[in-house]
Amino acid sequence: MKRPIVVLLTLLIACTAIGVPIWFAISQSQRHGIETASDKALGYATDVLFRADDTGRQILSGLGRLRAARGEAPCSPASIDLMRRVDLSSSYIQAVGYVAGDILACSSIGGTHALGKVDYLAGPGMRFRGDVGFPFAPDQSFMVVEIDHYAAIIHKDLPIDTANSEPDVSLAVFSLESPVPASQRGHIDPRWITRLGNANEVVFTDGAYVVALVRSAQFRSAALAAVPLRYVRDRSHDVALFLVPLGLVAGILLAWAVFYLAQQQMALPAAVKAALRRGELFLDYQPVVDLRTGQWIGVEALVRWRRSTGELVQPELFIPIAEEHGLIVRLTQVVLELVERDVGDFLAHYPNFHVGINVSPADFHDPGFHDNLKAALRRMRAAPNNLILEVTERGLLDPEVARTTSGSLRTSGFAVAIDDFGTGYSSLSYLESLALDYLKIDRSFIEAIGTGAPISQVVQHIIAMARDLKLCMIAEGVESQAQADFLRVRGVQYAQGWLFGKPMPFAEIRAHVERLHAPGPVAAGAG
Ligand code: C2E
Ligand code: CA
Ligand code: CA
Repeated sequence: MKRPIVVLLTLLIACTAIGVPIWFAISQSQRHGIETASDKALGYATDVLFRADDTGRQILSGLGRLRAARGEAPCSPASIDLMRRVDLSSSYIQAVGYVAGDILACSSIGGTHALGKVDYLAGPGMRFRGDVGFPFAPDQSFMVVEIDHYAAIIHKDLPIDTANSEPDVSLAVFSLESPVPASQRGHIDPRWITRLGNANEVVFTDGAYVVALVRSAQFRSAALAAVPLRYVRDRSHDVALFLVPLGLVAGILLAWAVFYLAQQQMALPAAVKAALRRGELFLDYQPVVDLRTGQWIGVEALVRWRRSTGELVQPELFIPIAEEHGLIVRLTQVVLELVERDVGDFLAHYPNFHVGINVSPADFHDPGFHDNLKAALRRMRAAPNNLILEVTERGLLDPEVARTTSGSLRTSGFAVAIDDFGTGYSSLSYLESLALDYLKIDRSFIEAIGTGAPISQVVQHIIAMARDLKLCMIAEGVESQAQADFLRVRGVQYAQGWLFGKPMPFAEIRAHVERLHAPGPVAAGAG
């Protein structure tokens, strides 16, 4: 990948990684904020309506008592006495009195007073005045509800005088007969009142407010509460204030990590090339055992890369890169050189021992490959059949190359193994047409033995197939005695895996073999 594309991609990933969680958190907190504000508005409106309804019931009952005592002449001492008692017994009513025309002729607190015109009829026979002043409280405003000449005087703020700690919340009580609130506090848009329609309650958002309206079940009235959205915005703002720096730091870290990894990835081919030049590769050898005797009859050479930093890189990471970037032929040459250095003349002493090396498709196309192998064996004083060339099914895809190369390798006496068998798609007839010696059963099939999984049956078919092709079998990745027994009973000759030994330096292989065979077969013959 080109550097600018990597930088652009990194930025894109980082921006998405920062932006999406922040956007989500803020929108969630906004949604939650609106829900909370709606609940709050509905709570206030219900509270206000509760007080308004209570006030209404006290008015009906107080004025009812006065009307029931009609026998007394209005404004007689007995009638005024009753007014005082009604006044005292109701907590919400400021005063009660008798109205003649638009004049309060007498009341529980004494004196006559002009009330002014009736504002509207709040119900059958219920006359309502919304804004009346009295000499006993000159700077305050009162509502007067009059039924059948008797009137109750109520403080205008009474219904909205709730225990409310948020002064910005608007409250109102209004009669359904009039668009003008009977009692109100804060900003009220008259259009809000019309939104109730025929519903018992509505909650909606309008501009800067969440508004709730609740209708009275008993009276022709309703209450309204409006909570400013500023509260919601403040909350989201707080959340953003907390999340944005956090997201920014996380995003920068992530971008750095992505960029670092991308750069490492881009630099890998160059690093593999340098590793080949600097000699940073070495080999471990995994023993291959005869399942019948348990004897170590050979090894597989497995390449490792120790970087100058000390980090050990697994072949599964760098082999594909070497293959992609035209470095694999050089790598195989290096492996051959390492085998020569590690194994030395060991094979001359143990002529039945073999070393397996992994070769890639590109090696088959390399005209020098064949001669390199022969030269290395000559220097090691080994025979061609001491070497097994392991090639995957993938490596045999091109039938032309596969047939000629494997044919000529066989003619020279090298053994050829088909590696990772079962993971490709080679047909039986195709494999038959190739000159092969060994079939290595892939680890995935060995793992499945005894698990009861559908794949566990496959190993039996592979064994049958190898028999038909007259190939020797090497099972890979044998980790348990049960797997080893299963394979041995079914005629698999060889195996490798952790049960027998993990990949190790060749010196350990040599020590093991020499210990068991001492004195060695050649030395014994000579002696
Ligand atoms: P492979 O040829 O199938 O090698 C066997 C892999 O299985 C090795 O991994 C080995 O360490 C691992 N193994 C052996 N026994 C067990 C076991 O009992 N359990 C488990 N879980 N694993 C086991 P390694 O060394 O990491 O090699 C990975 C692959 O890299 C090899 O697979 C081979 O395809 C490739 N490779 C290794 N060395 C070379 C090389 O020199 N040249 C080329 N072209 N490819 C190589
Ligand atoms: Ca192999
Ligand atoms: Ca394999």
